[in-house]
Amino acid sequence: MSYTLPIPQPGTHTRPFWEGAKAGKLMLPRCQDCNRVHWYPRHLCPKCHSDNLEWIEASGEGTIHTYAVQHLAFGPWAAEAPYVTAYIDLKEGDRMLTVLRGVDAGKPQDIRIGAAVKVEFELANDDVHIPFWRVVEE
Ligand SMILES: [Zn+2]
Repeated sequence: MSYTLPIPQPGTHTRPFWEGAKAGKLMLPRCQDCNRVHWYPRHLCPKCHSDNLEWIEASGEGTIHTYAVQHLAFGPWAAEAPYVTAYIDLKEGDRMLTVLRGVDAGKPQDIRIGAAVKVEFELANDDVHIPFWRVVEE
């Protein structure tokens, strides 16, 4: 079955992230001046505005900060509804928006704020592997 959802186009600014994803690694930008890890990738640190940034391999671990059930979606996502989106508090810092895997969108009461999640990668095509997060505890 071919991948039917939108596939991001890696650019020069995000290439380390996508190369990591292809290798099953979650790469995050970190400021070498203030040590803050931030998401999404930017040219400057959002805390101290330094351009002295590096990419680090993250643990791929986090917790659910909040979530929402998407009952109505458009375009290629329409066939996925209902599904759950969530903000993940990354272990290394900052938050990442995701489609949450391993949860029942029909039973949102079973989804717990603070639940541990782990990143996984879906193969969109030979070059792009897209990160999603999955609950790893009840
Ligand atoms: Zn900084």
